[in-house]
Amino acid sequence: MKSPIVKLEGLKKYYPVRGDAFDRTQKWVKAVDGVDIEIQPGEVIGLVGESGCGKTTLVNVLLRLEDATAGKIFFDGVDITDLSQNTLRKTRKDIQIVFQDPFWSLNPRMLIRDVVGEPLSVHEHLGAYELVSKVEDLLEMVGLPREGVYKYPHEFSGGQRQRIAIARALALEPKLVVLDEPTSSIDILSQAQILDLLIQLKQKFGLTYILISHDLSVVHYMSDRIIVMYLGKVVEEGPAGDIFTQPAHPYTRALLNAIPDITKYSLDDLQTIEGNVPSAINPPSGCRFHTRCPMAMDICKQVEPDRSQVGERHFTACHLYLKGKEE
Ligand code: SF4
Repeated sequence: MKSPIVKLEGLKKYYPVRGDAFDRTQKWVKAVDGVDIEIQPGEVIGLVGESGCGKTTLVNVLLRLEDATAGKIFFDGVDITDLSQNTLRKTRKDIQIVFQDPFWSLNPRMLIRDVVGEPLSVHEHLGAYELVSKVEDLLEMVGLPREGVYKYPHEFSGGQRQRIAIARALALEPKLVVLDEPTSSIDILSQAQILDLLIQLKQKFGLTYILISHDLSVVHYMSDRIIVMYLGKVVEEGPAGDIFTQPAHPYTRALLNAIPDITKYSLDDLQTIEGNVPSAINPPSGCRFHTRCPMAMDICKQVEPDRSQVGERHFTACHLYLKGKEE
């Protein structure tokens, strides 16, 4: 196996909750609470979990948009956990993000030449002619006409605007792209085309993707491996085929099992899990899922389960699988 492009070790992100009259920190929201993840170059990782599970915070800390409370972040073999924003400049080129709504992520007053060319101006200092030529190439790469350089974002459809956002994200030839709900704000036909474009570009440039989506059909279609989060913890990770056909953790099973056709559902449609996600300020003791788990045992309330291996590259954190406990 190659060296991981992303390695997170014991990553934590806590937010203080200020409450008393002296504004002293009383409690912490444990949004991400001890996450270990490795991502191999060229993988598509689907990050799954209900709202509030910590996946967005995890990505923000990985992107160094927020500082970690504890733990380590390695990118391409370099420890970037505490790098200053200046030293991070080179790494920033290598990690890009495509946001959910291209309308808001593209400045409506800028020509496409400048929207897509902005990262090139900042990092590569290209001359005017070179810049236009490069942006034309990028537009062509995402299936848009080269003449689009002199148009504004509002002159394009939703699907086309997402293509522009992808062109901008790929302008600096990154190694890792975070796709944050990349198709949730565009029409169904464009969604399929955008997903196919993302797959083509990944194959062409050897990209690694982290995909955040509530749409399980999108996660199913795109991902090589799935990571399932619950209340700031990773509860299961494994090859996408295994996770969708043989989910091990009761939470993952609850997310997926009652679904007759995985290709048609989103996490928002799921009615299968009793109760609400508990507060991350005061998470349940032991296994955090025990308050909602139909399989909960006495031990689950007291002891946090270790990670156990349940298949090839397939792990879960649940007391039901103690025999397969990792060495
Ligand atoms: Fe359920 Fe216990 Fe497994 Fe947690 S550890 S998922 S409560 S069986």
